[in-house]
Amino acid sequence: MQTKTPPFTRAQIERIIEKHPTPFHLYDEKAMRQNARRLVAAFDWAPEFREYFAVKACPNPHIMKIFKEEGFGADCSSMAELCMAERVGITGEQIMFTSNDTPADEFRKARDLGAIVNLDDITHIPFLEENGGLPGLICFRYNPGPLREGNAIIGHPEEAKYGFTRDQLFRGYKIARDKGVKRFGLHTMIASNELDPNYFVETADMLFDLVAEISAEIGIRFEFVNLGGGFGIPYRPEQQAIDMEYVGSGIARSYDARIRSKGLHPLSIYMESGRMMTGPYGYLVAKVLHLKDTYRKYAGLDACMSNLMRPALYGAYHHITVLGKEGRDKDTVYDVTGSLCENNDKFAIARPLPRLEVGDIVVIHDAGAHGHAMGFNYNGKLRSAELLLREDGSVKQIRRAETLDDYFATLDFGEL
Ligand SMILES: *Cc1c(COP(=O)(O)O)cnc(C)c1O
Repeated sequence: MQTKTPPFTRAQIERIIEKHPTPFHLYDEKAMRQNARRLVAAFDWAPEFREYFAVKACPNPHIMKIFKEEGFGADCSSMAELCMAERVGITGEQIMFTSNDTPADEFRKARDLGAIVNLDDITHIPFLEENGGLPGLICFRYNPGPLREGNAIIGHPEEAKYGFTRDQLFRGYKIARDKGVKRFGLHTMIASNELDPNYFVETADMLFDLVAEISAEIGIRFEFVNLGGGFGIPYRPEQQAIDMEYVGSGIARSYDARIRSKGLHPLSIYMESGRMMTGPYGYLVAKVLHLKDTYRKYAGLDACMSNLMRPALYGAYHHITVLGKEGRDKDTVYDVTGSLCENNDKFAIARPLPRLEVGDIVVIHDAGAHGHAMGFNYNGKLRSAELLLREDGSVKQIRRAETLDDYFATLDFGEL
């Protein structure tokens, strides 16, 4: 059992709240950097290893800059993400552009930036040719369909909209080769929030075997495989984090057996993890606004599902700590809610917590990925600030909270 202790005390948060009212997201820089270094160390055997941080998990330039300093690139899938990478100074092959149903202008932008383009479909080869041109280096996304089991969030691969079939993959590389493409990569991503470390070793096995088969049949040389994202995190205290040293050494053994022994070395290993890089290191901090006792007990927060929609969207568990009451018995059962006019606006349902008082500060754990990022403005809710807890203990605002002016900025009241 993990204890799930926030890296700050109630007194510290009270000081932060004096300047930055709740709700806000707070990211722990030190923990993010330590985790990033552990990941890189787990793959130090590889000829080259690079993590392309999946920007969508936490699209903030300050977070991206931290990862840039740790040697990461950026995995982008939209115009905004490409532009954000550019403005952080992440360009060229430090960008992996893994998109789907891609608009022409996004391919052109990716090509302008010199990004590695990872195509989702065989028809995107001519589409890219017309919109930005074929690059010298190209990557295709593989969907193994019925050849591989998916998992709960992403579903069965054959029902997933992503990627080339196996047959299309062979044809696609042949087409690209005949059009003069010289450098090749292979990508897959068929799971999301997966906690079984063996799953990722098996994914590497699958990609390495494909690299060998395609190289032999088509006579091309692969530069890299991209293992994608989907690395899970232990949202529940009883879950176990993925042992990345175990994954790294498992993939190293697979590399020796499937790549090195077949003369296909060197092959770079890339990843595009989002959740595992920021998820556990981000906290949604909110206050108890109202306590309500009807058919159930409700604790209404000043945050709502527009700050974190995973519980409402997936029924996801997010651990909750009540600051200053960590040691108390969890003897009262609450639904912890937001204020949206939607009954699924609940951070937790029937959750045992210490007895709450109005004004209590609650910390919702594991909100660093797909948290603020998934925010929205339904019901006129404004998106919250993002703060960075720096290594020296100071706090820096890395995104201000939205104002009503932001909310109204796309409306023209003058035409009424
Ligand atoms: C979402 C996504 C990722 C990151 O997924 P995580 O679950 O956050 O690791 C990586 N690659 C692609 C193509 C994605 O869509």
